[in-house]
Amino acid sequence: MEDKILDGKKVAAQIRAEVAEQVAELAPQGVVPRLDAVLVGDDPASRVYVGSKARTCAKLGMASETHVLPGDTPQAGLEALIDRLNADPEVDGILVQLPLPGGIDTHAVLDRIDPAKDVDGFHPVNTGLLQQGRPALVPCTPAGILEMLDRERIAIEGRRAVVVGRSDIVGKPMAMLLLHRHATVTLCHSRTRDLPAVTREADILVAAVGRLAMIGPGHVKEGAVVIDVGIHRLTELSEVERLFPGDAARRERFESKGSVLTGDVDFVRVAPIASRITPVPGGVGPLTIAMLMANTVRAARARRGA
Ligand code: NDP
Repeated sequence: MEDKILDGKKVAAQIRAEVAEQVAELAPQGVVPRLDAVLVGDDPASRVYVGSKARTCAKLGMASETHVLPGDTPQAGLEALIDRLNADPEVDGILVQLPLPGGIDTHAVLDRIDPAKDVDGFHPVNTGLLQQGRPALVPCTPAGILEMLDRERIAIEGRRAVVVGRSDIVGKPMAMLLLHRHATVTLCHSRTRDLPAVTREADILVAAVGRLAMIGPGHVKEGAVVIDVGIHRLTELSEVERLFPGDAARRERFESKGSVLTGDVDFVRVAPIASRITPVPGGVGPLTIAMLMANTVRAARARRGA
């Protein structure tokens, strides 16, 4: 079982170490890559995410600043901050923590970020470049998944890849990246008919649905590589026991923390069929933040010619 697991923590640690090396190389040129995060409102989960991004920057020798705005900040106020960060030569990456409060036009805010500083890769210029196979700054989660497939020597070319979920953040850019690497790609969504029949075609199956344990053994072909992007917090012991029967370690974690994380894939029932599989936690999640750091250094190098 252990050798089936695609260990995102391990791959993320490799990526972070490489980023730290690049940061050290830039230092003699007086370049310290800097990531600025913008947080609007006081959503506790968003605060946790932004905090961990800032800590990771510090560990890798990068600079970071977090700009916290009140939840009732008007569109113009938020856009004025983006303009200021765009104009600041010390800022290499701008990250606007999503979701933004209702009333804010998210597209307008993201469109305002200088594409050269768009380390989340959500700006239409970066989306367009990715679609044309000329990727510049690529959304971190799919970029991290591709990085892991490569580092784990999982062949992509000529294989059938099925991505479930068509969000701009994960599903669509994932499908594009796989397509440009010559996979034959199918992109599924909530109106796909007979989803299990489609996903059973996959050599590489990426689940980015946001539905707890939706991908079961009936969705997976023997020997498929299964990538689970979903993140769900289980807060009921009965759910933990249903999805992880007899898993004493997980039960213990639940009892000490009050919750455990799991994904879009019914891990216990799918793992025996898959050739490789990502766990949740410890799969895709750590890769996302590592790629954010890599994107920031990439943006710094490109913009500063360093
Ligand atoms: P979205 O809600 O934006 O998109 C979900 C997609 O799944 C939609 O395209 C939707 O289809 C599709 N979908 C919903 N129900 C079904 C169904 N029954 N059958 C087939 N497709 C369905 O989610 P995100 O892409 O932002 O995130 C997906 C998951 O990944 C979430 O759990 C999120 O928390 C997690 N996530 C994890 C990250 C990480 O770092 N590990 C990073 C980002 C997200 P339609 O378009 O038709 O509505």
